[in-house]
Amino acid sequence: MKWIVDSHTHLGEFPLFNVKLDIKGMIEIMDKYEIERSIVFSLPNELTLEAKKNYPGRIEGLVWINPYEGEKAIETVKEYIGKYGFKGVKLHPLIDAYLPDQPIVYPIMDLAAKYGFPVLFHSGHPPWSLPWHFHNLAQRYPDVKIILGHMGHGHIVYINGAIEVAKRNDNIYLETSGMPMHTKIKEAAEEIGVERILYGSDMPFGHPAFEIEKVKVSGLKGEDLKKILRENAMKIFSIK
Ligand SMILES: [Zn+2]
Repeated sequence: MKWIVDSHTHLGEFPLFNVKLDIKGMIEIMDKYEIERSIVFSLPNELTLEAKKNYPGRIEGLVWINPYEGEKAIETVKEYIGKYGFKGVKLHPLIDAYLPDQPIVYPIMDLAAKYGFPVLFHSGHPPWSLPWHFHNLAQRYPDVKIILGHMGHGHIVYINGAIEVAKRNDNIYLETSGMPMHTKIKEAAEEIGVERILYGSDMPFGHPAFEIEKVKVSGLKGEDLKKILRENAMKIFSIK
């Protein structure tokens, strides 16, 4: 049975990391690991769009933009969400070199507040994507769902920081991919509530084989696992 929703995946070739994944390969992995849907964000965005068109019900998209592109970025967001039914925006402050609470991000957040879509950010790497930088943004946009991809990533201080900042802001959500400590998923659930945690694999950089298992051995059980592995994503990304 396919039931899991993967909230963090990519298509394409990434020579720097020596990994690549095309849509056929992604669907094969999804079928094998009981994944019903993947939330994909890729550059160019057309890659995600094509996959979504070819696999309705299996692939959902987030539109990936660089806020420094100004009006062009805003137009792209409007087009992909309004016309193509993408579920939100993906931002990568580390690669594009801005702080999450810098004014350059505001026009996108204004749009998110207006239309009610979530914004997923890469998190966990200095100098641009540390968890504490999301506090001001979350305070400024209390109605926008802000998802911290990787929930602080590989460093214990940053992982704790992500939980801390989510505890102070009800509109911050944590996505589990790439974060090495299974126990921190249960801890996060206890601190902020299980409803604000999302499973992700970050494939092809990560793999569902161990990312799903990481959630399953976190110490959480039954309904809580179902929420993290499926239901929370269905709600946050407004998937019907
Ligand atoms: Zn990623």
